[in-house]
Amino acid sequence: MENHSNLEKIEIASLIKNQEKQFVRKLTANKSKVYAINVIRELHEQIDVLAEKTKKKPGVHFDCKAGCSFCCSLRVAATPPEVFLIARQLKQLSIEAQADLMDRLKIHSEAAHSLHTDDFFLPCIFLDKGRCAVYAIRPAMCRKYLGGFKHQVQKEQRDAA
Ligand code: SF4
Repeated sequence: MENHSNLEKIEIASLIKNQEKQFVRKLTANKSKVYAINVIRELHEQIDVLAEKTKKKPGVHFDCKAGCSFCCSLRVAATPPEVFLIARQLKQLSIEAQADLMDRLKIHSEAAHSLHTDDFFLPCIFLDKGRCAVYAIRPAMCRKYLGGFKHQVQKEQRDAA
């Protein structure tokens, strides 16, 4: 997100943080799995709306675009309801596709286990030809990796090399 003032970044981060706090409060009050999935979908929608609104602000430009999967090699955390949501969709895959995914997940998990977040750069198992195979239900963290991080991360990697 080039030409994006620090003030706007702080404002977005604080709005997202507030949304997450509300989400935690709701989940603490009702621990049903279905409710948790519905609440997380609500959070996803709110983050997307916020990102769309921000994109329309004058002088704001997101580097994110279809086909760019740079952030998908960074470490992404998913909450339990987000894992349930993705698992529910994966159940619709064939047995062979599920087995293949489990194999890739195991390899990914072993490789990821030894990496510190700062050194983490492994393509997500849901990347398919550079695109997210679970895009509509991707975790909140994927939605929050706005384009501005791309150059920031690249710079940090260059500096560390
Ligand atoms: S779930 Fe999708 S958007 Fe998130 S890191 Fe994986 S491929 Fe990228």
